[in-house]
Amino acid sequence: MYRHGIPGLAAAAAPADSAEVVVVKDERGQPHRGKVFAAVHAHLDDVPYYASGLCAKLIREGYTGYIVRTSNDEKYGGRSTAQNILSNEEDHFRMAAALGFKDVFDFYYQNHDMDGISYIDLRGRLILIFRMLKVDTIISFNPWGHGEEDPDHWVTGRAVEEGSWMAGMPNDFHEHMEAGLQPHAASERYYFCARPGQAFNRVVDIGSHIDKKVDAIVECKSQGNGNRGSLVRAQLARQGKRLPLLGNDDRSADRAYVRQFLLENDRECGKRHKLEFAERFYYIDQRGPAKSKADEYIEKNAVRI
Ligand SMILES: [Zn+2]
Repeated sequence: MYRHGIPGLAAAAAPADSAEVVVVKDERGQPHRGKVFAAVHAHLDDVPYYASGLCAKLIREGYTGYIVRTSNDEKYGGRSTAQNILSNEEDHFRMAAALGFKDVFDFYYQNHDMDGISYIDLRGRLILIFRMLKVDTIISFNPWGHGEEDPDHWVTGRAVEEGSWMAGMPNDFHEHMEAGLQPHAASERYYFCARPGQAFNRVVDIGSHIDKKVDAIVECKSQGNGNRGSLVRAQLARQGKRLPLLGNDDRSADRAYVRQFLLENDRECGKRHKLEFAERFYYIDQRGPAKSKADEYIEKNAVRI
């Protein structure tokens, strides 16, 4: 495993999964043009909170982004189960559009119960998508994440981890090849730092993408407190009060609330690295060198018989 493409790191030969923490800043132009990433989360508000700054950065730098939501989010929204499924689905489309994702895939596994699903079914569905979209990079839960209590998170993370390399192996779900797809491994991985104590080796400067992150979070109304600002504003109005921070309309109130109260993790993480806002990830790069040492040796030393 070798590290590539980190600006300012000429000697990029250290293992990508080392404990060394690398701060990643914006890159000029569109160095990732032609590359594809898939962000795979379980619930409406996972990517918005854990990785929307990174997603906005990668899209601005030329990546095409797709988002996959594995659960149906039926437990959140404060209404009936069916109404919750619909409102989360609608919020999810709006959130994905706000961040600039090209397409949305919803798997609709039952929320909170994903440790009881057919695991191979989930992995196979992900492998189909990774091959179909030719996904180079995945963004998801850390499959070995310390303190992860939500089964939807760890089941999704493990299936993504396994599917990302199995997608490159022609004998896994070989019927995909009959359908015209090609093996295609997703060799770069960014795992969320979703719970206290989870490992990270990348700190991503998201300072210039923070408005996009706010855009994503305010769409998380069924869960994720995206509409908390307007709710507080309405509550205060009923008491004959107003909070100047929240402005004069619901949209301003939601945005101001997110910016002031819901970005604390990113602000704290940024402060430690002299940045305004930062997200953390455990990054793995499994792109091998173009030529192995064995290939180089054979090329150089093979002689005519
Ligand atoms: Zn979640």
